[in-house]
Order: sequence, then C-alpha cells, then structure tokens
Amino acid sequence: KSLTANEIRESFLKYFEEKGHTRVKSASIIPETDPTLLFVNAGMVPFKNVFLGLEKRPYKRATSCQKVFRVSGKHNDLDNVGYTPRHHTFFEMLGNFSFGDYFKREAIEFAWEYLTKVLEIPEERLLVSVFEEDDEAYEIWNKVIGLPEEKIHRLGVEDNFWSMGETGPCGPCSEIYYDRGEKFGNPQLGAPDDNRYLEVWNLVFMQYNRDEKGKLTPLPHPNIDTGMGLERIASVLQRVSSNYETDLFMPIIRFAEDISGKEYNPEDPQSIETVSMRVIADHLRAITFLISDGVFPANEGRGYVLRRILRRALRYGKEIGIEKPFLFEGVDVVIDIFKEPYPELIGNRGFIKGLVKAEEEKFIKTLKRGMDILYEIIEKAKKEGRHHITGKEVFMLYDTYGFPVDLIEDIAKDNNFGVDIADYYELLEEQRKRARASWKSQAKEVKEIYIKLKNFLPENQFVGYEKLEVEDAKI
Ligand code: ATP
Ligand code: MG
Ligand code: MG
Ligand code: MG
Repeated sequence: KSLTANEIRESFLKYFEEKGHTRVKSASIIPETDPTLLFVNAGMVPFKNVFLGLEKRPYKRATSCQKVFRVSGKHNDLDNVGYTPRHHTFFEMLGNFSFGDYFKREAIEFAWEYLTKVLEIPEERLLVSVFEEDDEAYEIWNKVIGLPEEKIHRLGVEDNFWSMGETGPCGPCSEIYYDRGEKFGNPQLGAPDDNRYLEVWNLVFMQYNRDEKGKLTPLPHPNIDTGMGLERIASVLQRVSSNYETDLFMPIIRFAEDISGKEYNPEDPQSIETVSMRVIADHLRAITFLISDGVFPANEGRGYVLRRILRRALRYGKEIGIEKPFLFEGVDVVIDIFKEPYPELIGNRGFIKGLVKAEEEKFIKTLKRGMDILYEIIEKAKKEGRHHITGKEVFMLYDTYGFPVDLIEDIAKDNNFGVDIADYYELLEEQRKRARASWKSQAKEVKEIYIKLKNFLPENQFVGYEKLEVEDAKI
C-alpha cells in the first residue's frame, strides 16, 4: 500500500486507538523529567516514570508519535547520518505502550496485524529476531503467528536487549525486519553495513530497571514499549531505496539541489553530493525541531549540540559549493512538510529562521577560511604520501582560525585521513600551562594597575562586558 508519511502516522495512531490505546501527543525533545538524558532518544522516555511505577496515568495503554534525537549517550547515530540509508539524528518514532496490561503475545499480534493487514506488507518480506534466551517470544512468532523457523533469528545482548541509557528501564526485545531483496546480497542480520534487512520495528518487553551499579531488578509489572521509525516504514511503503527519498525528505533534498545547482543521486549514495544533501536534509530537520522545542545555540550542553549540528550542515553545504547562509531558508521547507502534525512550527517560524540566520552569518567566514586551509593541508599531505593530519595542524586551525575540531575530524574521515588527536590535546594542554604561568606572573602587576585605576575612576565606569553581551544578543 502506498501511503504518504502523514497518512502512515495517522493510520498507526488510529489502529492502536481502536485497540484501546490512548493517543498521547509527542513530548518535547528536551526531556522534562529525566536528568539522565540530554535529549529524548525513544518513544518510551516520556513514560519512563510510569514504567518504573512512580507515576500513575489514567490509562494502561498508550500510543504516540514521538520526536526523538539520537546524537549523545547510548544512542548516538551522528556518524551514520549521510552514510547509511536508514539513520537520522532527528526522527519520529511511532509506538504503542502497555503499562502492566498486555504483554508479549498481544504486542506481537498487534505488530503483525498492523504490518500485514493494515499496511498490507507481504508476509514473505518480513523476518524477526528475538533475544537468544527468550524462548517465549520465539514460540509466539513460530506457533501463534506461524512464522517459519528460518525467519526467526536468535541474537545476543547487543541487538536484542534494549536499554534507554546506562540506567533505567530495559528488557529483552524482538525486532521486525523488512527484506529489501536478494540484490543486496546475503548479509548477517543486524550487521552495521546490512542494506538488505531493514529493521523497522522494535518490540521491547520491558521487565527490568538497571541501577547505577548495573544491577537488574524486576519492574513492578511487565510492560510493553515498541518503537517504529516513521521514515523507515515510509521508505518501505513508498518503495524507495532510502529514507531520504520519501516525502519526509525529498522536498528538502530538492531545496539543496536548487541552492547548490548540484544533483542528488541515490544510485551513487557515497558521492559527496548525495552524502552532503542527506546530511543537510537531516540536520535541517533537527535544527528546526530543536529550536522550536526551545534549544538555542550555546557553547555547552544542548545548545552546543545544536550549534555543532548547524555548523556541520553548513560545512556540508560548502562541500557542494554553497558559500552563503542558506539553512534559514530551508527551515521553511521543513515547516511545510510538518505543519499539519506539528502546527506549533508555524508560529515559531520567524523566530527559528532569525536564530538560524544569525548563527550562519557568524560562522560562515570562519568556515570558509578554515576549510580552504584544511584542504591545502590535505593536498600537501597526499603529495607527501601522508594520510593523517598532525596534532600541530589541528592546533593551528583551532587556535589561529577558530575552526572547530569536530569538523576537522569529520572532513578527515571523508578523505580517509586520520587525525593525531592525542598530539593535539597535548599541545592544547601545553598552551593552557603556558597561559596559567604567564597569568600568575602578570597577576601581581595587573592588581597594582587595577588599584590605581579604581582610585582614579568613578564607580561603574567599566562597560566592557555589558557591551559585549548586547552585541552578542543582537540578531
Ligand atoms: P539500528 O540497529 O538500525 O541502528 P536500533 O536497533 O538502534 O536501529 P531501536 O533503538 O530499536 O533502533 O529503535 C526503534 C526503531 O527506531 C528502530 O527499529 C528503527 O525503525 C528506528 N530507528 C532507530 N534509530 C534510528 C535512526 N537513527 N534514524 C531513523 N530511525 C531509527
Ligand atoms: Mg542504532
Ligand atoms: Mg538494531
Ligand atoms: Mg532495535
């Protein structure tokens, strides 16, 4: 069945409503009640305290389409973005949840019915994995659903024991994969470079809580938590080779094509044009939703992640020849795609665009200079037969030109170059030591000058900091 992403989102929530689930609106990407997480990284996060038995809700079954962001902690997909057809930083996770109500059997039956009857995905295209010790789930797939043994894979902790983070709710899981066909060879299920079997849905049998020491204690009652990536299931239903060719991304890709004058080619997914446009499209969605949820560019914490993502998008823009601020215009394209399910974006449009534009303008000169020098370094190194960037070069780029080190690492990686990052940290440390030493010797002098000045000037004449702040805040 070919459906638009909006139709899929709605059909999922409606299906589970009909099965007695309460539809719950997506929570903010900023976790409201969870200090252990930088960002919401799964649909279950807003329900964490319900799973733990700390919070009661007026329902035992819920369904949601949650905005999630995976760039930190246990779930970090930043390095995959652009390079795999299925990973994003920001994405939407469809889910159904049971709080001590139904368990494995119903969860599996619901998922199977939804995929094969509602979405009409042919059964022979689907296969599953279960946790290696979970005979119960194996039997349900085999006996109740009737899936043949060769389509039920037993996998270990790495793939089939899900946890939110280092601590918190966790449990064995069962994943449903879509087989894209023999032309993708015969890879190991769940392998990182596996392009044949696409993991679409994860059913987690949430039974334990893990504490700081790693100890598992059973939860007050067994729960169900499932997560299905909307972009992935859209790619299946819209019969395209990656998430980026779905209606959730294509308008942004077209926008990047227009601005750059370059071509997006899914047949050549590792080309710099295609990789760059995928990264730009991914990061633009992330930037738009992060700011809309109240994250602002900063030098630490969440704001720093936003800043890094934005700068990273700009640098991929430069790779395809875009030298001027452009992301702020892309915000309109993103909002156009999402204005129906997330109408709050419309009201936040002007604010988001203003912030993005200011950030772009601030960074673009640094980026141009830094990248030109870095590419000179890379060319020179290649001629010398060297395939790494030295710590000294990294230090120079950072110290003299303010070029961010994570971008240097990114660019090195794209050129199959290594980075002597330990040497860089040593140089940085030496510089800090030098600065401390000279600061100490100057401190006495400064103090004397300061005292003299203070005697000389009336109160409150020092406006330096204030002025800086005002200028910084100007958009
Ligand atoms: P993968 O093995 O492909 O990295 P995962 O096992 O890490 O996925 P889960 O933590 O089980 O993913 O998340 C539940 C579902 O969310 C997945 O089955 C998939 O459909 C979707 N998903 C996970 N990570 C991403 C991502 N980075 N971008 C888009 N969708 C994702
Ligand atoms: Mg993953
Ligand atoms: Mg997986
Ligand atoms: Mg999974």
